Amino acid sequence: MICGLLGQKLGHSYSPQIHRELSNYSYQLFEKEPEQIEAFLRSGDFHGINVTIPYKKSVIPFCDTLTEQAQKLGAVNTIVRQEDGTLLGHNTDYFGFRSMAERTGIHFAGKKVLVLGSGGASNTVCYVMQELGAEVVVISRNGKNNYNNLHLHADCSAIVNATPVGMYPNTGVSPIDLSQFPKLDCVMDLIYNPGKTRLIMDAEERGIPAENGLWMLVAQAKESAELFSSHKIDNKEIQRIYDILKKQMKNIILIGMPGSGKSTVGKLLAAKLGREFIDSDCCIEEYTGKTIPEIFSSQREAGFRAIETHILSELGKKSGLVIATGGGSVTKPENYSLLHQNGIIIWLQRDLDILPTNGRPLSQKNNLKDMYQIRKPMYEKFADITVDNNCIPENTVESILSEVEL
Ligand code: NAP
Repeated sequence: MICGLLGQKLGHSYSPQIHRELSNYSYQLFEKEPEQIEAFLRSGDFHGINVTIPYKKSVIPFCDTLTEQAQKLGAVNTIVRQEDGTLLGHNTDYFGFRSMAERTGIHFAGKKVLVLGSGGASNTVCYVMQELGAEVVVISRNGKNNYNNLHLHADCSAIVNATPVGMYPNTGVSPIDLSQFPKLDCVMDLIYNPGKTRLIMDAEERGIPAENGLWMLVAQAKESAELFSSHKIDNKEIQRIYDILKKQMKNIILIGMPGSGKSTVGKLLAAKLGREFIDSDCCIEEYTGKTIPEIFSSQREAGFRAIETHILSELGKKSGLVIATGGGSVTKPENYSLLHQNGIIIWLQRDLDILPTNGRPLSQKNNLKDMYQIRKPMYEKFADITVDNNCIPENTVESILSEVEL
């Protein structure tokens, strides 16, 4: 049985992996241009397909029948070929978002919910939120309720981002400033890459529970898989697959004093996990064509740090890497969100009197103890986990694996 995903530019999609976990049909990626859609849908070469940007509306004329939800939402994200050859269009994003909203444990009835964006996903969110009894306000760039009159909604309880603002590769930006909403008790972002968008990080900094769109992605796939295979799948599968993807997508980032073993431990850890290892200092040397001491002597520390931040902004938005950072990466506060958006940050600690100084410009110039005193609070601020690295690196890798669920 052939199933798959239809879209225009699919890039890296998690759907094949999710469907492999859910069932045993073949799941392929079908990248098509708009003029190819009709022939593809009529060809009969598939049993079932998921549909993504930008075709959720344009496939509708080629479906023979639509479910009630697909009709109401005006969008189809799953098409199943029936026994008589006709095509039935479904909308499983409805189940996906409903499952995500219910998972928050919040009773939305009677609460004001702002939904950012007025595209296809926004329709689904509004429909579900209205079903749950919420008072829904759509914030649209050109709408009556827009980003210039948000003060009218300072009383809202929840915000759902249904725009692509903050999505990979354009990470680090938020569609809205949360300081305007003192009564917020929930933020949901339909984006799942990066794991923590700027909006989610802002919510977390304010102590507001926040959730990304990964759960919705897996939940909508579960319902699609049921439709493709005509078998009921336990809802527990959503949690299982969500956990796998969440771990897999996270970067593991090592911080610590120069010479504390980040590269050695990082390489071993990456090999053990079958992940790619990246040393940010090597990336800087490759990018500039100069060694680290050469950059320090020609551009001073400030020049080096600016290049380092640029490199970290590129590395931090990738997924599934083990990254060793330079010892001073914590000295620029903005590097925190670059690393944190997709990563768990591990501070490797090693006794100062055994740290090497060769080829490390700052370690040679400064007293290591003084440097450590200045940086200690910075490492503390960045670190999710602290691991001792005074033993052999293999033991440190084991300590990391016991601390971090991977
Ligand atoms: P869409 O149809 O392109 O709509 C997005 C809406 O966002 C637009 O209609 C627009 O609304 C607003 N928007 C677009 N660019 C913007 C910008 N630069 N600044 C502010 N607002 C902007 O996309 P969609 O299919 O609804 O998807 C929206 C997001 O949800 C995407 O990030 C997508 O990946 C995500 N999504 C996730 C799942 C999941 O399973 N987790 C499922 C579906 C979608 P206005 O013109 O009204 O401002």
